[in-house]
Amino acid sequence: MCSIGDDIYDHEEEKTIPVTKSLKLFDLCNKCRSEKPRLVLRTKDAYCNNCFLSSTVHKFKAYLGKSHLIQKNDRVLVWHQIGHPSTSLLHFLRSGLDLSSSKKLQFVPIILFIDDQYHLNLNERLNLLQKAKQEILSFGFQFNTVSFADYATNPKNLNKLFFIDIPQISELDKQKLEDVINKKTSKTHANDIKVLIRRQLLTDAAKYYQCKFVFTPEISVEVASSLLSNMSLGRGPHVAIDAGFCDDRDVDVKIIRPLRQFDMKELAFYNKINNLEPLSVRQKSLNPYSSVQDLMKKFVTDLQINYPATVNTILRIGDKLSVDRDCERFCSLCKGQLSVINDQLTSHQSTTFSHLVSTEKHDYTISRQDRYQNIFNVFDERVVDKENLCYACSNISDNVKFN
Ligand SMILES: [Zn+2]
Ligand SMILES: [Zn+2]
Repeated sequence: MCSIGDDIYDHEEEKTIPVTKSLKLFDLCNKCRSEKPRLVLRTKDAYCNNCFLSSTVHKFKAYLGKSHLIQKNDRVLVWHQIGHPSTSLLHFLRSGLDLSSSKKLQFVPIILFIDDQYHLNLNERLNLLQKAKQEILSFGFQFNTVSFADYATNPKNLNKLFFIDIPQISELDKQKLEDVINKKTSKTHANDIKVLIRRQLLTDAAKYYQCKFVFTPEISVEVASSLLSNMSLGRGPHVAIDAGFCDDRDVDVKIIRPLRQFDMKELAFYNKINNLEPLSVRQKSLNPYSSVQDLMKKFVTDLQINYPATVNTILRIGDKLSVDRDCERFCSLCKGQLSVINDQLTSHQSTTFSHLVSTEKHDYTISRQDRYQNIFNVFDERVVDKENLCYACSNISDNVKFN
């Protein structure tokens, strides 16, 4: 087992020593060269509070503006979540909208909170919804909410799914979700299915609120770990849209990750300096070895502690990947582009065929040709019938009843 990073937790005191030392090493802020530094980022960049705040806001706007995607008066759905990144995002948006200069943000954000914390009891969930509402209102935005379980159960019923106040919630939501995602499926596949449902929910919500864009609050570690998880789940062909700045697989709605370049330390400091308290809830105990996604998150988080530049390297690799746009066929579950069909079987199809030949029971009372035909029929059922699914979705499609 890889032990890099594990020993960090064995020496909690030592972990803080380099930070304290490095702050003392910097006499002046790297940027203005006049104020005393208050924090050190990436173990080398020391900033005073003012320089840190202005460079953080500039980084957000520059990253968003570089794409030139969003035009004046465009409506943007913002997925609001628990934690520092979402709170920073609301603050970036509110302060950008309130500017009077030409740098004022020109688009219209619509904030949506998804009720999906089913490990909490009913009172805790209601309390969370209440706090989410207060937080969103405190930034001068309207509160909108939707139940993840209700959407997963009946995604076509959009008119009855969205609320502008705390809706009635039910103890049965967890059960409803289990009717959609087979509870016997592995945690890795269940996580993968939830990501797909959530993406579809955000896309449908954007259409409901007449938004052309969705902002999601993933930061660098989350994007890097989902990039590696998706690679290992066989979602390699779609990594560029799954982990890039913009997911444009839907023709009408683009999903944008405006915080993709930030790490948690930056946003936690940003919130602290601005006296912002993010939403928090009781976390469920997490075993990092229980799913591919959890393991990748631990792996990338440990990398971030020891070698901060590595996460950016993973992100830059993601930026260099692109989607094969030659095929006009799309996966019916994840809506990603499918590989171009040619006469040759793909490596996945070949492996399935040889697995079938070596594991199926053969009936030796019939001719060899008939035996071959029987195997071929089973192969057709298992592979060709799933040819409207990409490789990764064909692995999970039996465990989800999602329309
Ligand atoms: Zn400064
Ligand atoms: Zn797919």
